[in-house]
Amino acid sequence: MYQVIVIGGGVIGGALLRELTKYCLNVCLLEKSADVCMGQSRANSGIVHAGFDAKPGTLKAKFNVSGNRMMETLCKQLGVKYENNGSLVVAFDEEQKKTLEELKARGEANGVTGLHIVDGERLRVMEKNISDRAVAALVAPTGGIVCPYELTIACIGNAMDNGAALYTNFEVVRAEKTQSGYKVYSAKGECVEGEIVVNCAGAGGGEVAKAFQDESIEIKGRKGEYILLDQECGNFASHTLFFTPTEKGKGILVSPTVDRNILLGPTAQGCDKDDNTTTQQGLAEIVQKANEMCKRVPLFHAITSFCGVRTYTDKHDFIIEESKTAENLIHVVGIESPGLTSAPAIAKYVVEEIVGKKIALTPNKNFNGRRTADHFFHRLTDEEKSELIRKDPAYGNVVCRCEQITEGEIVRAVHANPPATTVDAVKRRTRAGMGRCQGGFCMPSVAEILSRELGVPLEKVNKSDEGSYLVTGVTK
Ligand SMILES: Cc1cc2nc3c(=O)[nH]c(=O)nc-3n(C[C@H](O)[C@H](O)[C@H](O)COP(=O)(O)OP(=O)(O)OC[C@H]3O[C@@H](n4cnc5c(N)ncnc54)[C@H](O)[C@@H]3O)c2cc1C
Repeated sequence: MYQVIVIGGGVIGGALLRELTKYCLNVCLLEKSADVCMGQSRANSGIVHAGFDAKPGTLKAKFNVSGNRMMETLCKQLGVKYENNGSLVVAFDEEQKKTLEELKARGEANGVTGLHIVDGERLRVMEKNISDRAVAALVAPTGGIVCPYELTIACIGNAMDNGAALYTNFEVVRAEKTQSGYKVYSAKGECVEGEIVVNCAGAGGGEVAKAFQDESIEIKGRKGEYILLDQECGNFASHTLFFTPTEKGKGILVSPTVDRNILLGPTAQGCDKDDNTTTQQGLAEIVQKANEMCKRVPLFHAITSFCGVRTYTDKHDFIIEESKTAENLIHVVGIESPGLTSAPAIAKYVVEEIVGKKIALTPNKNFNGRRTADHFFHRLTDEEKSELIRKDPAYGNVVCRCEQITEGEIVRAVHANPPATTVDAVKRRTRAGMGRCQGGFCMPSVAEILSRELGVPLEKVNKSDEGSYLVTGVTK
């Protein structure tokens, strides 16, 4: 019997799970996929928004600004890459310059500090590749970047280190009210029992609500396609460059990532909430907009394209409240952008202001908020590397040549919290397969390591979800 069951292993469920383990509570996370972080927390811009975009008084504005303030400390504790690179909203005409003033005033009303406007000349000093047509920019010094899947995995891993349980391949389809809470059932018929349930199921938030006979949540999807440029272009831009927003949204951005790639995108196109395909039209739009924002965009260094699906409701604000029909079911859904930025603040609010009003919160004296990243070998000094290789020769075997990832890191990730049991799970934890060849060289070796470490035949190793096998058999 758990005191709190969290449904959905994205950044919201992950941050919440970790926050819960700061207290003496028996908690678990139910995730429908084979790995955590398989929804929108995996495929987004990774921007830690400053908070000038959301309308004052909304939950988005409140949690964006407070989440932004918490992010750097959280990332330091969890060994997650974060950079306070600052963001620029670029204006291309006098009308857009007026919008920058409005954004500045809105940001100040939301409590964002340091906002100021620079002219085109100063802007070109700050960003050497910005278009000659740019006339001004709003500078947000508190804007940052983070690796979204690294953060999500680290939150869940740290929660597990502190006692939380994880159930993957557990798609919640049905719930039964009991005297003390709920019996929650998976599609395969497994059952987990708990007092309080928190619905953080992203795109599945409506279906999860329905499993509790709550018909109030309807989730819609809007896809965002991206093009990723090779690390060789890492110095192309240092700030996150936004167009001046329109009523359609923030538009396509050009931004460095914490791993020194350059990210172009996202588009914004209504779609089925489970449709994460890229389209020729979407990618063409990204190319056009990136070329409007910057000169000499090195598109020949594109290494991959991908798509994330924003999940939203008609409320167009976060829904963070107890269900009106199912007692002790708490919805944390409709978490569109800036949900990644807001995650630490949402988690704290849900635990202290909602869960804490239902059960006593006794601080967990044994809570350890620190964690070593799974992708760490490259950060060591030469002496430290030699010492580690002496202790474990697997660290001397480079498996992913593009990203210089060693066998030691992959083995560690397979046995860490949460365990990496698929090729894509290894990729998200260690970056093996994230480089220029996109796994062309290392994928077979990663699959062999998984087969050996998990004790399963090679033909049963999955790329992603259950049944996504890589090989049909092994030739002698
Ligand atoms: C294109 C794009 C760009 C974005 N850019 C930014 C940005 O730069 N900065 C920012 O702050 N925010 C950004 N966001 C928003 C941010 O990504 C989201 O707000 C955040 O990831 C939401 O996390 P979540 O945990 O609610 O959802 P998800 O990450 O989708 O997690 C939900 C989880 O629930 C699981 N699940 C679903 N149904 C069930 C079920 N029945 N049983 C069990 N598990 C289930 C899913 O498998 C999934 O793992 C962006 C989003 C998109 C799509």
